[in-house]
Amino acid sequence: MNKMSKNKAEENLDTVISQIEQARLKVSAHHIVSLVAISKYNTSEDIKNLYFAGQRAFGENKVQDLKTKMQELESLPIAWHFVGHLQKNKISALIELEPYLFHGLDSLELAFELNKKLENKNKNMACLLQVNSSYEKSKSGFSPKHCLDAYRNIEKNCPRIQLQGLMCIGANSKNKDEIKKSFLLTKKFYEETKKEFNAKICSMGMSNDFQEAIECGSNMIRIGSALFKEFKEFK
Ligand SMILES: *Cc1c(COP(=O)(O)O)cnc(C)c1O
Repeated sequence: MNKMSKNKAEENLDTVISQIEQARLKVSAHHIVSLVAISKYNTSEDIKNLYFAGQRAFGENKVQDLKTKMQELESLPIAWHFVGHLQKNKISALIELEPYLFHGLDSLELAFELNKKLENKNKNMACLLQVNSSYEKSKSGFSPKHCLDAYRNIEKNCPRIQLQGLMCIGANSKNKDEIKKSFLLTKKFYEETKKEFNAKICSMGMSNDFQEAIECGSNMIRIGSALFKEFKEFK
């Protein structure tokens, strides 16, 4: 293992954790936030550095990459998340990998197909419903208007899917108020799913907006670049 990038991993992790701490204390001393390290642009060696600095949850956005890294890091007790858009022809492969949590359930068609394949394999999968709360065409997810009905539909008709809550990607904007608006909208629907279905997870916030996301009620953030930055320079 490269010693310099190991130090960098510890430094990045410390920085992110203290920023999480500041933001979550603005909400409440009891507000707990989980940190998922998104390693999609990084090697298994990078992941190991962050793992030995203390990080345990990692996420990928391509099924094949998830598979490769899970195999390479098989000996480590990592909780693997899948945060990408799931193509229909990759559903079976993802099921086989038994991810800890799939964040991107973004259509009813996908939900029904996933449920059917889970049924055939006699497995379950913990999932989050993705909400396109910034109304951006480039993003997948349910429109805010339809997300609660979709949630109820999946709860009722897809017993193999264990919905845990909602996920969104913040508005692609430099305007913090725009970004917060998209987070607050997701939070509003998350509160509904919490009341109705005892949902537990509101996954929102990335490297550039996680403090705002936490202040808006996020309890799971997905951080890539802020955790892995400058690893490369030390190699
Ligand atoms: C890449 C990615 C992230 C992490 O992005 P950073 O800006 O590098 O922190 C979070 N969530 C999803 C869905 C991603 O694809």
